[in-house]
Amino acid sequence: MEERRPLAELLGPDGPFAERIDGYAPRSAQLAMAEAVERTLDDCGRLIVEAGTGTGKTFAYLVPALRSGGKVIISTGTKALQDQLYHRDLPLVAETLGIPARTALLKGRSNYLCRHRLEVNAESGRFRSREMAFRFQRVREWSAATRSGDIAEIGDIPEDSPVWPYVTSTGDNCLGQECAHVGDCFLIRARRSAQEADLLVINHHLFFADMALRGEGFGELLPGANAVILDEAHQLPEAASAFFGLAVSGRQLLELAQDALTEQVREAPDMASLARAAEGLEKAARDLRLAFGPGDRRAAWSEVERDAGVGSALDELRSRLAALNAVLEPVAARGKGLESCQRRTRELGEAIDQLTGDTPPGQVHWFETRGRGFTLHLTPLNVAAPLRAHMDAQKCAWVFTSATLAVGDSFRHFSARLGLEDAETLQLPSPFDYPSQALWYVPRGLPQPNTPGYTRAVVDAALPVLVASRGRAFLLFTSHRALREAADLLEGRLDYPLLVQGTAPRSELLRRFRELGNAVLLGTSSFWEGVDVRGEALSCVIIDKLPFAAPNDPVVKARIDTLREEGREPFIEFQVPSAVITLKQGTGRLIRDVSDRGVLVICDPRLLRRGYGHAFLDSLPPMARTRDVADVERFFAVE
Ligand code: SF4
Repeated sequence: MEERRPLAELLGPDGPFAERIDGYAPRSAQLAMAEAVERTLDDCGRLIVEAGTGTGKTFAYLVPALRSGGKVIISTGTKALQDQLYHRDLPLVAETLGIPARTALLKGRSNYLCRHRLEVNAESGRFRSREMAFRFQRVREWSAATRSGDIAEIGDIPEDSPVWPYVTSTGDNCLGQECAHVGDCFLIRARRSAQEADLLVINHHLFFADMALRGEGFGELLPGANAVILDEAHQLPEAASAFFGLAVSGRQLLELAQDALTEQVREAPDMASLARAAEGLEKAARDLRLAFGPGDRRAAWSEVERDAGVGSALDELRSRLAALNAVLEPVAARGKGLESCQRRTRELGEAIDQLTGDTPPGQVHWFETRGRGFTLHLTPLNVAAPLRAHMDAQKCAWVFTSATLAVGDSFRHFSARLGLEDAETLQLPSPFDYPSQALWYVPRGLPQPNTPGYTRAVVDAALPVLVASRGRAFLLFTSHRALREAADLLEGRLDYPLLVQGTAPRSELLRRFRELGNAVLLGTSSFWEGVDVRGEALSCVIIDKLPFAAPNDPVVKARIDTLREEGREPFIEFQVPSAVITLKQGTGRLIRDVSDRGVLVICDPRLLRRGYGHAFLDSLPPMARTRDVADVERFFAVE
């Protein structure tokens, strides 16, 4: 093998990156990470690396990945990050290195046009509204011209339009090898390019689907890989829990009913009983939602399992599934669509039995309702063992990276949750000059967070800061209730535009925040991470409380109970470390660049008064600290 150029040369001041990229600055942390990743790839090892904001971790893994010559899978947290990595960073690094790698971007199944669904729904012509019919027609026209089948190409239909399920497939309704379009299926084609690529960019959802051989996973990607690099790895424990668990949503039941109706029109027009059975299932699914009661809820299954209304709605749902199965059974052989409906009916019936039956050890049964939808879940409380088994079966290198993995200087929390106790670890600080770029302010005199009037006190403490910062702030809340209360309290009291989560889509609020340049944005969990506002538009982040997960959340509560039963300390071992990671994510919104300046305000007095506060204090970047609002005013006065 030809000798590789030292990474220090490539990433150094006279290397190709410095030559090509304006304002490129070599960073020692980036080089250290690139060297560690390269070693891990060479040795088929396992590495956990926390790279503080601004380290340049994307280049630090792309350079060794491209130089490795093997097949590398890179997984990121979201589609937006996938696109950014694939369309922006990857071509730049590959061209700079002069490595002509075959690369591919693979998204989830629901991003690709399904010719079969398009065809059957065009034949049935059942649309809920004229707008739907119009959009369906728009997709049909585009389908004749597209080469990739990636629905992102149609920019004028919103992502949440109800037309998409009519023209894309799910693991449930895809006919696979039985499909008449298997030869020119966009999804299969995209998967084939993914298999042939040297460097493949996917997301965590797809990664686990493939690993767990579930849903949209074909189990074909991982076996050929020499290395897997997981970015935004702090999201993995939650993503893994979802995939190693089981869930059935009301939407899946409604889609089955809809598909059965469509197939009846196409393949069994003589069978009115099939249409009646499908309509019966649809009604039973809607009635079960009603039985859970109004409003959004997330609770343990044990809270409703003895509820008479839920019990009888569930019995009705089971009997409707059985009835549909009985009607489909004799006609399933008439066509692949009917056969698929029968298989799904049977599988959903079995899943619902598991989701409402006895709880296996180490798992939790729970449910959630949101709007008109509901989902039943069975979630494992520990994913370390199944994940570990999958990793051991796969002879390749594993790299886990994110800006937020460690608590203080320990990776124990993260590695224990994923079964990575023997992985090499590396913690690289951010290259930003936090003591001069950022100020951390903890207001005096705030009451305990569980006392009435707490949010009012937070708003009172925030107001002088918002005046000093001239808007340009995020106020991050740990609950929707506090967010709404603060929004009411701030109404009319600020000279700056107020943007409130829930009043417009998240992307729209962020666009306005960037454009306005002096706005104050109030948000909850979805704004704590994955938001990148560089420059002066975001100069202040105010956090109402330490972000402990709600202890009455069914999965959190089950984890706490299990740790307690094992004689362990759930608060110290699980709740505090999880909150530290969330707080690190939230504060990471503030300084995104070497020239950013900003103030972090944490209102929660427990930070300084409770023994566990040091876990938070030791985990945040080394900002200057103050308890005096006059320092905040001085900080902004020098701008
Ligand atoms: S194979 Fe599946 S995804 Fe592809 S066209 Fe057929 S049903 Fe659709």
